[in-house]
Amino acid sequence: MPDTNSFGYRGRFAPSPTGPLHFGSLVAAAASYLQARVNRGKWLLRIEDLDPPREIPGAAERIISTLEAHGFCWHGPVRWQSSHLAEYHAVAERLLTEGQAYRCTCTRKAVRRLATHIGPTGPVYPGTCRNLNHSISSQTTNTLRLRTTNSIVTFADILQGEISCAVAESIGDFIVRRGDGLFAYNLAVVIDDARDGITEVVRGCDLLDITPAQIVLQQTLCLPTPTYMHVPMVINKRGQKLSKQTGASPIDDHRPEANLLAALEFLRQDPPARLIDEPPAQIWAWATEHWHPEKLTGQRQLNQN
Ligand code: GLU
Ligand code: ZN
Repeated sequence: MPDTNSFGYRGRFAPSPTGPLHFGSLVAAAASYLQARVNRGKWLLRIEDLDPPREIPGAAERIISTLEAHGFCWHGPVRWQSSHLAEYHAVAERLLTEGQAYRCTCTRKAVRRLATHIGPTGPVYPGTCRNLNHSISSQTTNTLRLRTTNSIVTFADILQGEISCAVAESIGDFIVRRGDGLFAYNLAVVIDDARDGITEVVRGCDLLDITPAQIVLQQTLCLPTPTYMHVPMVINKRGQKLSKQTGASPIDDHRPEANLLAALEFLRQDPPARLIDEPPAQIWAWATEHWHPEKLTGQRQLNQN
């Protein structure tokens, strides 16, 4: 039986175990957790361990203990994408059989050379293999691309307002399964959000531009579209997005109070300084009672103070 409610709010936090949590991921987790708490909903934790070559051994466990140290409480067991590979496989094969996806034998270099513009996931695919019908027997690659159509996807982001995207033009036929057989994040996240009954996705603005691709996949697979709330991305002093690549430091599990206050400050919630002497549970109680996400309306990135 799927673990879903027929009603009620369900949110989630879905980190990739490519390193320990940094301040940017703590901010996204906090915003998502607070939305679930004010809506008296459930909050799920999903580890997006879909890309073993990029994963760091022990990172998932470390992420989980950081969340625990900061007083996050999730509903049910931790969910792991690696335990759903058969389901992703079945969906990818169905897309292929039904002609909604097609095999692509182009090298990355060829795509880069032929693409006329760059979309949120890289060069927009020029469509080379679209009508070539590469069969399974001529298989030299596992790459599957979604056949996008000329429609416009529009959604109302809670903080970023109405977002419109001509998917075929701006994103193009995006990859749902890679040449090395690994499933694309966009495919897995859509399947998981639906299976887990997620009603609202709260995450960083780094994923705003790719959301229309996820909505197209939901529509193709006849899955519901959750509401979306994209919170500002954390930018370092050099104007770069916080990440392992830009040298973001891991969250220190020994000072959860200070970290939570910093996250709330970043989210413009003005937490009182006295909270520094309170345990995380008290900080969450205050933050839930005073949660005003509308203070972030229209903000796509903010500097870490
Ligand atoms: N695993 C993704 C990341 O860490 C987030 C996925 C999501 O929230 O949709 O960037
Ligand atoms: Zn191709």
